[in-house]
Amino acid sequence: MIYKHRNKPQELTVFEILNKRIELSSKDKQYYFKLKKGYAGELLFDSLTEKLQCDCLILNDLLLEVNNTTFQIDTLLLIDGKIYIYEVKYFEGDYYYESNKFYKKPKHEVSNPFLQLDRSESLLSQLLRNHGFHHPIDASVVFNNPTFTLYQAPLNLRAILPTQIHNHMRALDETPSKINEKQKRIANLLVSLHITKSPYSKIPIYHYEQFRKGITCKICDSFSLSIEGRKCKCQKCGYQELVETAVLRAVKEFQTLFPDQKITTNVIFDWCKVVQSKERIRYILSKNFTLVGVHQWSYFK
Ligand SMILES: [Zn+2]
Repeated sequence: MIYKHRNKPQELTVFEILNKRIELSSKDKQYYFKLKKGYAGELLFDSLTEKLQCDCLILNDLLLEVNNTTFQIDTLLLIDGKIYIYEVKYFEGDYYYESNKFYKKPKHEVSNPFLQLDRSESLLSQLLRNHGFHHPIDASVVFNNPTFTLYQAPLNLRAILPTQIHNHMRALDETPSKINEKQKRIANLLVSLHITKSPYSKIPIYHYEQFRKGITCKICDSFSLSIEGRKCKCQKCGYQELVETAVLRAVKEFQTLFPDQKITTNVIFDWCKVVQSKERIRYILSKNFTLVGVHQWSYFK
């Protein structure tokens, strides 16, 4: 049973908007693609854990803190008196392991996911002990990209390789398990301690002037939209959407980027660009938001 769902990281949502509306530096772009790929890998692993039939509690994407140190757990399962934690790595291609170091072939050192795993395991164990729980933890790194190969892996490496995932999930499913009160208390504790705002954000500083204005297509991200009556039509892929829905999508993007800015007709008119009439923008906003204040001081909430 899924006890805590995974949400798309706010950082990724912001990067998606930045990537289509401003020119990101190659470093930021690289970081964005890594973030996007990592999230895709996590969702792929979720699609397996959510199929588990055994009595278990699934907690996705936990960000916790103990003794002023934050740590992240991609997936945590409570099954049969044990806690399983997984660090999900969606690495593509050929990697090798040498003297406790992790490399991508031919020879590019990457941060060792097993050190990250050790750290998370030890911090989680500390946190649980601080709350009076002494629970065995089984920690693994899951490599779930089908193109991933690991050379020179020691026998005792706590890895689940692409060819082993299926058997691992089956073994979990075959574990006789019954969730008890203590496990529910642990799950509640972890959910209550989860930190929603990540301290790791690497979002670059941005300004309104930098952004390409306009509404983008919901399907292909193109800016080439034309308005025909009540509909907005994408010139590139042909997707059609109600103007109102498209404007509200754009408003949502604006709010994500500038959460402290007030929503006014003028601001959204400038942001959407493609809608020719301010009256129409005002009508859409007043239908979907509450108008606060009067005259030039008014805004939508
Ligand atoms: Zn399109």
